[in-house]
Amino acid sequence: MRRPEHDRSAPPDAAARRAVEPVICYPTETLPQPDPSRTQRVRDDLTEIARTRVPPRDGSSIRVPRGHVLRILSVDGPQVGDLNLFAQENLSERFYSGKTRALHGSHVTTGDRLWSCFPYLRPMAMIVDDSLNWYGVDEWGGRVHDVIGTRCDPYTGRLLSGRDYHHCCHSNLTRALSNATGMPLHEAETHVHDVLNVFMCTGFTRDTGQYFMKASPVRPGDHLDLLAEIDLLAVLSACPGGDCGSEHSSDTAPCYPLEMVVLKPADEVLDGWQEPAPSPYDRSHGG
Ligand SMILES: [Zn+2]
Repeated sequence: MRRPEHDRSAPPDAAARRAVEPVICYPTETLPQPDPSRTQRVRDDLTEIARTRVPPRDGSSIRVPRGHVLRILSVDGPQVGDLNLFAQENLSERFYSGKTRALHGSHVTTGDRLWSCFPYLRPMAMIVDDSLNWYGVDEWGGRVHDVIGTRCDPYTGRLLSGRDYHHCCHSNLTRALSNATGMPLHEAETHVHDVLNVFMCTGFTRDTGQYFMKASPVRPGDHLDLLAEIDLLAVLSACPGGDCGSEHSSDTAPCYPLEMVVLKPADEVLDGWQEPAPSPYDRSHGG
């Protein structure tokens, strides 16, 4: 029987409708998998070839050749980083936070991959080590390294507080990308995209479903290691929120630097290293 049009009370079969079991949107068993022995051999013998320091409330960039490891390292104090990834030779191929979330979940760790946007949709990097893997999930549902958040930015800051603040991650990433490529700021800004929130501890509240953050468990020496599957340009902002335990978009929180280190595996591991093929729908690669 149809209910009156304006009746918003729960229907008689509400409990039965809620009791339907969920299904995973994107089961990942059929994803193309990298050779696990090669992934292990990469980690066996790593030599540092480049390093850059990301100053607090600022950004920096580094180029990572395919087959090399990008280590994002906590130094000095607990600090969250906002990461953008680009294909070195084609800035329009960039990290796709939303699809990475749909495939691997709201937070990523060892074994998960970071995917590029359409029409490419291929793994840009694979997480091969995460020193915060022990954290798991806390009593509020908080986890580390999210692909939920967008990045702190001056637009939302102004909307909510009426104030201007230009050391947000969005602004830091824009300046660092402009420095890396020589593009003017207004052009670089159009390439900045939703981030991987490195070391950030976040979740959604059970009652209102709101995005929450809490002080990151990261400590100096902690690191997240990404194996570059294609030649990457990595751009990182040291968030003005510091450990993101209180607020961002201001100069209030204690902030620390982060470092990005490029580690080269043994030559024989790199010999014949193939990039993952982009989607056949990508015509720029001759598909
Ligand atoms: Zn930020």
